[in-house]
Amino acid sequence: MPTTISPAPRPFADFPVQALMPFTTRPPLVFTEGRGSWLHDSEGRRYLDLVQGWAVNTLGHAPPEVARALAEQAGKLLHVGPGLHNAPAIALADRLASLSGLDRVFLASSGAEANEGAIKLARKFGRRHRGGAYEIITFRHAFHGRTLAAMSASGKPGFDTLFAPQVPGFPKADLNDIASVASLVGPGTVAVMLEPIQGEAGVVEASTDFLQALRRLTSELGLLLIVDEVQTGVGRTGTMFAHQRAGIRPDVMTLGKGLGGGVPIAAVLAREEACCFEPGDQGGTYSGNPLVCAAALAVLDVVANPGFLPAMAARAERWRAGLDALAHREGGPATSGQGLLLALELPQPGRAQRLADALRDRPGHGMLVNAVRPERLRLMPALNASEGDLTLALALLDEALLAVG
Ligand SMILES: *Cc1c(COP(=O)(O)O)cnc(C)c1O
Repeated sequence: MPTTISPAPRPFADFPVQALMPFTTRPPLVFTEGRGSWLHDSEGRRYLDLVQGWAVNTLGHAPPEVARALAEQAGKLLHVGPGLHNAPAIALADRLASLSGLDRVFLASSGAEANEGAIKLARKFGRRHRGGAYEIITFRHAFHGRTLAAMSASGKPGFDTLFAPQVPGFPKADLNDIASVASLVGPGTVAVMLEPIQGEAGVVEASTDFLQALRRLTSELGLLLIVDEVQTGVGRTGTMFAHQRAGIRPDVMTLGKGLGGGVPIAAVLAREEACCFEPGDQGGTYSGNPLVCAAALAVLDVVANPGFLPAMAARAERWRAGLDALAHREGGPATSGQGLLLALELPQPGRAQRLADALRDRPGHGMLVNAVRPERLRLMPALNASEGDLTLALALLDEALLAVG
């Protein structure tokens, strides 16, 4: 529980928010500090946070390990640019390669930028090895980010017309339907790209069988298998990377969100045969920025510690059992997802948002959850959330489900 609170409460009305472009709807609150699973607003209210910056804060708010790494690195070297080597970037690439079994790493600043990098790598691979093939089969309801190519790769309803015309070359298959993938493969195909769990779609899992079938199909045809682990990577689902549950090795993987534990860093990892970038093909001013690399190394030091993920997975199993009991009582299906990326389905459309609002604004302290879809609540606590935090979250969910129809 936090011990520091901003001294003087400052009401929302005092903040000049109108200068921000209104690209999303936000509650009329300003968050000022946090520690672990708890977040504070400017008026002094506390919230048990099960959103954690959209699965970004791997170790919760203000983790001391990350704060220390950032302070040390900030006093040493902030930035040199991608044209010069720096020690944290080299160490991070080496660490990611050994954790993933992939050979090489490109460091980026956001999930969308990492996915752009993976798409470019696949297109270059197609030019080099597959007669100019450039199509990447992606999936309905997928989410790969908000740059133009990443939006085109996504299958979120509405994304196809929002900023038309789309970037061409992303035919859409159905998740967990291998025939729908096979039927799209043609001479123009170079890769298949998917999230092991579709997060923004509402926590929809690719089955182990499907991931294995995709690996077989792509290997037989010489296509690249790209996994977007921006949301699922770095321990979120109970294994370091979600695809490991299926025992497969992809050709390319992207990471983001949880990698930096709260600072903007992302990565493209690839096996040697897929690494076809040449000097001049790819870059980015902040690629391998030493400050954010130092933070990612601090996050990985904790998450890759041998006892960390097994202990988290055990807490996650008990958390899931509690959620399943609530889901069952509400007449919904079992909880979807893995590890600490779970969603509760509530058969009544719109109820998820009503519950999220009620939990945030409840008397005493609030709780933050994400109504990822009208009928689904997504829960993304810090990976180091304590048994006590999760037990309290279950009690508050139980209370809200009884109170909010
Ligand atoms: C969030 C997300 C992205 C986009 O990441 P940004 O950092 O917002 O660009 C891409 N893919 C998946 C699976 C995501 O969850």
